[in-house]
Amino acid sequence: LSNLTGDARLAMETLAGRARDLATPSVRLGITGLSRAGKTVFITALVHNLLHGGRLPLFQAAASGRLSGVRLDPQPDDAVPRFDYEAHVDALVDRRLWPASTRMIAELRLTLSYESATFLGRNFGRGRLHLDLVDYPGEWLLDLALLDRDYAAWSRDAVSRLTAQPLAEASQRFLDALKELPPSAAENEAEARRLAELFTAHLRARRADPEALAAEPPGRFLMPGDLEGSPLVTFAPLFLDGEPARGSLAAMMARRYESYRTHVVRPFFRDHFSRLDRQIVLVDALAALDRGPAAVHELERVLGEVMAAFRPGKLSWLGSLIDRRVDRILFAATKADHLHHRDHDRLEAILARLVAGASARASFAGATVDVAAIAAVRATRQAVVRRGGERLPAIIGTPMPGERIDGETYDGDTEIALFPGDLPADPAAVFEAPASVAPPGDLRFARFRPPRLERTPDGLGLVLPHIRLDRALQFLIGDRLA
Ligand code: GDP
Repeated sequence: LSNLTGDARLAMETLAGRARDLATPSVRLGITGLSRAGKTVFITALVHNLLHGGRLPLFQAAASGRLSGVRLDPQPDDAVPRFDYEAHVDALVDRRLWPASTRMIAELRLTLSYESATFLGRNFGRGRLHLDLVDYPGEWLLDLALLDRDYAAWSRDAVSRLTAQPLAEASQRFLDALKELPPSAAENEAEARRLAELFTAHLRARRADPEALAAEPPGRFLMPGDLEGSPLVTFAPLFLDGEPARGSLAAMMARRYESYRTHVVRPFFRDHFSRLDRQIVLVDALAALDRGPAAVHELERVLGEVMAAFRPGKLSWLGSLIDRRVDRILFAATKADHLHHRDHDRLEAILARLVAGASARASFAGATVDVAAIAAVRATRQAVVRRGGERLPAIIGTPMPGERIDGETYDGDTEIALFPGDLPADPAAVFEAPASVAPPGDLRFARFRPPRLERTPDGLGLVLPHIRLDRALQFLIGDRLA
């Protein structure tokens, strides 16, 4: 090699690097969940903890000292936006503000170097693993339900949900517009756009409805990503009267619905979803529990839809597209730092119950499924507060600047103690009555500031505190670092 010129040597080394890269195994980990479930916070905290030697006692490769290096690398897919890790860390760690949430698909590659735990593995040399994190809105998974439904069938379903009473104002407006529309209305772009806007407002009202928190497809109407305003999302269900006539508004809507399925839904499942190896589904279960049984039932239904997406056998075309299968799925209830630690196991039990119901409905088989209650970022501390003669378990945190709790506005620098209340011991109870997550008005409105970094036990590093993030990591990739 010493005879080679600098350029030639560089080329050789680059080639050798590429070859090693190709030979390095990779795991594609999907991170999903409905809007505000905690995807951005999860990925940012995960990467920060891995890069900075976070406290991860249950993540065996790190705890046993076998994880020798972690670095960010260029991602393999040039066509997918990069997850903006640096901006999110800047917000979360440097400014102690929550980062901007997921709006579309994004990707980030980590390369982990490790010593194998096995004799054979050790003699094989040091191991390397690419961990490709793929962040995407859970709303997009709801579109799976559209794949085996033509426009007429979908229209019928969507319109029938409008009969639920009482209707939100936005939903009522959409229903009125449909009623006023003559069955023979002619194709018209402005009218299509108006109805699509009203329909979108209806879907978003259902999603925000504190009682229901209902999530319905089409997913891009809730989370358009880069399709905002595109004709691909300019359609709506109608009252249909037989086969749509040529040149009618109904025919135009049907055509656009088909385009949506062809140009949006299928490519997403084919190009991104079908290539995942592992999946974490983040669930804001506390929000649903706080709202009561209707929201809990809706959450269970949505989890069922998500499970169905991971069982491609039933949808033959999806099955035929999928070359590798997700073999591990973790359902994680996020923001567990809003509870006293006594309740973390209860939250897990409730989620297990919801997932079990959902998986029975989706007759799920194949992947190993687990549940966990986590806080990717722990924004609170535990305390016991005396009130009268009583000792009450409390959480202490700093409300966000401008946060109003019990009529008081906070400046972002004042700590307060809250009594989060207890979750029911019997997970079935949450289907019947509101879980007393907190005295009304307590948790629902408390948004705590992200915490300061904490020193590692050796005093050398500064890391983000979390709850059970290491357990999640061990389940998701631990076996690949054995
Ligand atoms: P996304 O829409 O799924 O990307 O959701 P984000 O990751 O942006 O999270 C939405 C909001 O939930 C954040 O702005 C935080 O207020 C809150 N949140 C998410 N994860 C945590 C957590 O681990 N602890 C706490 N206390 N709040 C969290």
